[in-house]
Amino acid sequence: MRTVAVTRIGNLRDPDEAARGRIGVVDMPQPELGPEDVRIRVAYAAICGSDPHLAEGFFGTDVPIGLGHEVSGVIEALGERAGRGGLRVGDRVAGNFLRFCGSCRPCQDGRQQFCEHIQDYNRPGMAETVTWHESQVYRLPDSVSLLEGCLLEPTSVAVRIADKTRIRVGDRVAVCGGGPIGQLTVQVMARYGATALTMIEPIADRRGMARRHGAQYTIDPTSENQAAIADELTEGRGYDVVIDASGSTRATRGLLDLAAKGGTVVYGAMYPSDYELPLNISDYLYLKELTLTGVFVSPYAFPRALNLLPHLDLAEFTQAVFPLEQAADAFEAHLTGRYPKVIIACNDEARLGGLS
Ligand SMILES: [Zn+2]
Ligand SMILES: [Zn+2]
Repeated sequence: MRTVAVTRIGNLRDPDEAARGRIGVVDMPQPELGPEDVRIRVAYAAICGSDPHLAEGFFGTDVPIGLGHEVSGVIEALGERAGRGGLRVGDRVAGNFLRFCGSCRPCQDGRQQFCEHIQDYNRPGMAETVTWHESQVYRLPDSVSLLEGCLLEPTSVAVRIADKTRIRVGDRVAVCGGGPIGQLTVQVMARYGATALTMIEPIADRRGMARRHGAQYTIDPTSENQAAIADELTEGRGYDVVIDASGSTRATRGLLDLAAKGGTVVYGAMYPSDYELPLNISDYLYLKELTLTGVFVSPYAFPRALNLLPHLDLAEFTQAVFPLEQAADAFEAHLTGRYPKVIIACNDEARLGGLS
């Protein structure tokens, strides 16, 4: 089956053509349909900010590496025991690319994200079909299109970020980074009753988008004095919750200074594995009692993300759609940063049974 994959390891932005990472469409075997599995004809798979990191070999260097974990589609086949949760052939669905086994110690201990078998069903979704365990699959509400449905996974990340902030209604919140996760997080935080909701982002279009979706203030960290503006917006007290969705090492340090005493800083992105954040323990952990945390994946967040989807404003996320065969162009478009999200259409309408 046709699958979008990393075909050469390397930085996708490397100016040296010979060293640059490469994305292509390859044939990969379709996994067997196990008794509890669901085969989904993929409608849409969105490019994630983490995908270029996979091209750099963050999770392994054996090519081809199949891509795609933000997926929607239509159920094509069910294993003999699948469907106990009510799933049927023809259902419009989205899902979690990870299967939490339920049997290992972390799963038994309420920490699915550390499941010891988390990779068993992690299969590329930027493909004609994806085969998942039924526990990974969620039927989409009627009011959510398949195009919007592929945003279930990034929405689950925004929900998980919200969980980790332990926000209280009325808390002051700053979000750094106006990519898709940052934008969805702004929408989620606005619904949570955040105040002084501020988007910190160098690209003007992204600041504008955040404003349209609930951010009250924006800061351009490249041309404005971030610390002074934050002081002004929070009466010199800082933000109770500071979220990084940028993954930018340049941004990470300054965020500690934006946090209020007793505040929480969530590093909600992927960071270079060799980057170390300088941290004055006396200032930030003793005197300010900050809580610093991060987000790996989004356990226990999908049911709530599914409830939220119909209420989020997703129109701006679904403008750039490329056919599967043009995956390389889609990644180029992603790297320009011009689109809030770039989405790959993995099958045409006819192959999806006319569902949308
Ligand atoms: Zn993602
Ligand atoms: Zn497990």
